[in-house]
Formats: sequence, C-alpha cells, structure tokens
Amino acid sequence: MTIIIKVDSENPSIEKIRRAAEIIRKGGTVAFPTETVYGLGADALNPEAVRKIYEAKERPPTNPLIIHIAEKKEVYRLAEEIPEKAFELMDRFWPGPLTLVLRASEIVPKITTAGLETTAIRMPSHRVALALIRESSRPIAAPSANLAGRPSPTTAEHVIEDLYGRIDAILDGGPTPVGVESTVLDMTTEPPRILRPGGVPREDLEEVLGRVEVKQTYRRYKLRMEVILVEGEPKSVIRKVRELAGLYLSRGRRVGILTIDEHKPMYETYRTMHRCEVKSLGSRKDPAVIARNLFGLLREFEGMGVDLVLAEGFKVEGLGLTIMNRLRRASGFNIVKA
Ligand code: AMP
Ligand code: MG
Repeated sequence: MTIIIKVDSENPSIEKIRRAAEIIRKGGTVAFPTETVYGLGADALNPEAVRKIYEAKERPPTNPLIIHIAEKKEVYRLAEEIPEKAFELMDRFWPGPLTLVLRASEIVPKITTAGLETTAIRMPSHRVALALIRESSRPIAAPSANLAGRPSPTTAEHVIEDLYGRIDAILDGGPTPVGVESTVLDMTTEPPRILRPGGVPREDLEEVLGRVEVKQTYRRYKLRMEVILVEGEPKSVIRKVRELAGLYLSRGRRVGILTIDEHKPMYETYRTMHRCEVKSLGSRKDPAVIARNLFGLLREFEGMGVDLVLAEGFKVEGLGLTIMNRLRRASGFNIVKA
C-alpha cells in the first residue's frame, strides 16, 4: 500500500529519489523529510494530486498548502506583485524554514490555496526535499505529513503512525533537524505579519523588515492525553509542577513531566515513582534542541500511556515564541500561572 524508501539524508541515492519523483509526476502522494518536519507532497499544479493530500490527512478544505520549490526563480511562476522586501528575505533565509505568503499567480490551482488569492511558498534546505523537487521537475505542495490536528511528524515512524496505507510512499531520511514547522510570514500586508511562528525567529525577520506583527492562531492538537502548561518564573514553575504532579499521582493518573536538563534533577523523586515519567527537551541554553525534541516527546508520552503531561513554559523570545505556540496548542490553553 505505502512503500517505504530509506534514504541517506546527506547523500540521497538518485535512483531512490527518482522512484519517489515518478510517483509525484504521476499525480501520487509522497511523504518526505524537510529540515523542519516531514511533508506530504504532491504535484502543486495538479488539482487531482493535491486533492489526495487533503483526503489522506483529513485536512479541512479551508486550510491552504505550502508550495515547495528548489529554485528561487520558481516564485516568478507561482506569485505576482512580489514586494522588494520579499526578495531580500529569500536571499537571506532561503533555503530554510521561512514560508512567504504572496499574491498567487493564475497557474496555482484553487485547491492548493484553499480558494485564497494568496499562496504560501518556501524553499527547503533538506537534501532529500530538494532532490525530490528537482527530480519531479515541478513545485510540490506539502503540508506536514500528519493527520490533521496531530503534532507534526519529525520522523518517518510518526508518518507511519498517522498515514500508513493512506499515501503512496514515504522517503525515510531519519529525524528532521529543525523539528518545528516553518515560520509563515504574510508579505501581502503592511507591516508584514507572522501567521505562524516557526524555525526562523521573529527577531531575525525584523532585522530585514523593521517591525513585524504576530497574528497567531491556536488550533488545539488532537492528543490522547491532557496537557497542562505551567508558566512563570523557573523557581515557581518547578514548585507548581511538583505540587500538581503529587496531586494527580495521588488521584491515580499516569503523569508525564516535560522539563529541561537544568530542572530535571528537581523531579528526581517523581522520576523514580510508579506512574510518573520525566522527560527533558534539552538544555535551556539551546532552544533549537528544545524545538527539535518537542513533537517527538509529546508522541512518546502518548505511546507510554501517560494521560496527563505537565509541561514547563518558556520565555516568549527568539525560538521561545515558536516553542510556546506549540505548547499552548498542545495544552488547548489549559494554562496554569505559577
Ligand atoms: P502545514 O504545512 O501543515 O504546517 O500547513 C501550512 C500552513 O501554512 C498552515 O498554517 C496554513 O494556514 C499556512 N498557509 C498556507 N497558505 C497560506 C496562505 N495563502 N495564506 C495564509 N496562510 C497560509
Ligand atoms: Mg500541519
């Protein structure tokens, strides 16, 4: 049903990429690694192929797709009235985790833009993604390769969990290095607006653009467990998480604690307790690692049968804005101020 093709992420074999590209060219669907998360790709200019993406993901038809390209010059085919600043952003951040929303050209099918006049475009930096786009010789529409509403997949195993049997192929290139989705930046408004914080921090965009607005939407993730996000100063957060862990464990819940390296020892007593799991996202000093580990650890907790996760909050600066966006979505705004 779904063929799984293992590829070397640094040095993908051209035969394997061609096999996957052939599926794309024939109007099929292929999940592939990008530097952000796994995408579910299809020919962006073939409405019938794009329809299969929505179907496989059970994605609402109102949610538009990002078009992935391998050459900057492709934006001239896909977009119109491109502002000067957009080119500066492409020069600085492409290939990379920045998606630009621009006015769509005639050739972009309505199903790809979900009926909008605008389209979202990005050039990924992952070698497998670039090779697949080049060998397909067409732009590839690719939302994250998960079921709609689930946390995005950062490994081929996550894709298998959600989409096995629903898509034609998976290119397995191992874990994705950034681990959170691209920053979606609307360049059709003044000032430009971040519609989704992601791999490129707001501050980096502001170096090029001056002021940038942030207009996030928070759709809650579908998880098989509850998540409580605890926000505040580190010391109070630790105290609150310990208190809540004790409370819920005493009620017989299976509790997960999502923390950082620096705080993990503070939960040592809980770690050794039955029905409690403590996992670290990484060191506070390395927000990129924290972002990379976030989705995978949420899925791990689920897999262990944890039914309540207590997650520590982060400062909303740099990648912290992205991390907190995803944690708030995981919690469904179940937020406790410590
Ligand atoms: P995904 O690739 O699954 O993470 O989803 C693509 C993201 O890009 C979604 O958040 C979309 O709402 C957003 N997006 C795609 N096209 C547009 C567009 N034309 N205008 C605004 N947002 C867009
Ligand atoms: Mg998605």
